[in-house]
Amino acid sequence: MLLRFTLSAALHFNKELPPEAAEAVQATVEKANATLFRRGVPAEADAAEIGRITGWQVEGSSLTLTLESGTYTRAHDALFRIRKPLAAALGRHRLGLRGIEVRDYRIDIAGEIPEKAVPNLPMIRRTTRDEAGVSLELAVDATDLENKIPDRLVRLIEEKIEGLKYGGKAEHWELIFESEKRSGGFVENPTEEMLARGWIKHAPARGQWIFAPPAVQLFRAFERIVVEEIIGPLGFAEMIFPKFVPWEVWKRSGHAKGVYPEIYYVSAPKTRDPAYWEDVGDYFKVTGEVPVEMIRDRLEGPIGGMCYAQCPPFWPFVQGETLATGSLPIRIFDRSGTSHRYESGGIHGIERVDEFHRIEILWLGTAEQAVGTAQELNQAYKRVFEEILELEWRSARVTPWFMAQEGLAGVAETENVGTTDYEAFLPYNETWLEFQNVSVAGNKYPKGFNVKVQSGEECWSGCSGIGLERWTAAFLAQKGFEVDAWPKRVRDLFGEPREIFHFL
Ligand code: ATP
Ligand code: ZN
Ligand code: MG
Repeated sequence: MLLRFTLSAALHFNKELPPEAAEAVQATVEKANATLFRRGVPAEADAAEIGRITGWQVEGSSLTLTLESGTYTRAHDALFRIRKPLAAALGRHRLGLRGIEVRDYRIDIAGEIPEKAVPNLPMIRRTTRDEAGVSLELAVDATDLENKIPDRLVRLIEEKIEGLKYGGKAEHWELIFESEKRSGGFVENPTEEMLARGWIKHAPARGQWIFAPPAVQLFRAFERIVVEEIIGPLGFAEMIFPKFVPWEVWKRSGHAKGVYPEIYYVSAPKTRDPAYWEDVGDYFKVTGEVPVEMIRDRLEGPIGGMCYAQCPPFWPFVQGETLATGSLPIRIFDRSGTSHRYESGGIHGIERVDEFHRIEILWLGTAEQAVGTAQELNQAYKRVFEEILELEWRSARVTPWFMAQEGLAGVAETENVGTTDYEAFLPYNETWLEFQNVSVAGNKYPKGFNVKVQSGEECWSGCSGIGLERWTAAFLAQKGFEVDAWPKRVRDLFGEPREIFHFL
């Protein structure tokens, strides 16, 4: 993208600038244009791309600077670079810098920029387009410029342009392994069959089920298999990760960039003073209705959301730490609670729900250890699906969307960073269901949470989410409900279905 940054800023001083000060300004500006602004710029850079002061003017106690740049020493960087030498030069005339006021800031982007690539944000006052490209007039102050808002805006537009290209393409999907066909002859929808047998019932919230004993027996049987065949032998240790996730965590994990449409949001009361809430309870007592609007007014937040991906809320445990070589790779897991996603119209049976149960396996270490652990897990899973569950399944390399979004698509192609999806065949609708995955996320999380390893190599991590609803849906869809015909290990762990409810 061809970029042009134009900035006009007034520097306010404690008193009027005397005529001799003008000479000092001129000298400082000339020097900055000639050397200061060229610092750190590649020697071969086109001079027109480098920030420079193109004009200045004194009005009473203010000095107005006009700065222009291409991509090097951008206008706002130039402004903050010259601030100190200018303040020093004028200090000799007993002038003190009191503040910087941004008069205008404009970014011109040449070329064909899709309308959808330009964000709609409060810091963009006006967007204009012509055949040359797009101009953004910003509504920013000096602090915004110090926080590099213009650079982040440009970066975002670049990402959106990339995203628009990527969005048109099908997600990368490359088969790794496909098991033999193992149709057991069962072709019913397992959710409907579970409902008919009273193994599950719809809960009042959307995409939420109440699981009766037989369904839980199956969940626990799978959990035992995971613990005994995978987690135990590979030495993963159990932890408990929080299930409410504050923004702080998602800011670092990257989820704050885009998870909003699928979050279940969490708010806290503004106060726990019973008097503050008394009329809310009273309203319900009188009407039998919960006054949602009244409640909304008395809430703080949302202060975050319910667990979405299971591993991000683990990371504050190691945030800012350096992991000792002897402790690596660290191998842990969490199965302490539910995950929540607003799946909207997508909810389907027990396989796509808004509240689900997942065992999350997580590991960190050097790149080699992270990749090695993923390989060990992939082998262990293969054995479980082939020899213990006897499933019809396949695995595929997929490019996770977040990687493309964050410019990691190239890295994903190095075959070390990326996701392996596991899918099971559902005979009842002849589709494949993703029931778990294994991901190596490279240094994404260690970087976001500032975690290092002792050797000084890059710290890498990986995770694997085992969805119990999805395992159950896959298993029952293929094996049906004749428990005696199930693979032996599952049959033994499951026992007899405890159908303890009999309704009149
Ligand atoms: P899908 O493409 O099916 O929506 P996903 O890519 O969103 O899945 P991940 O974010 O990779 O899923 O989550 C990891 C695992 O969590 C999945 O393999 C699955 O077992 C489970 N999972 C995710 N979303 C749901 C859901 N809505 N209901 C039940 N299980 C889920
Ligand atoms: Zn994870
Ligand atoms: Mg999903």
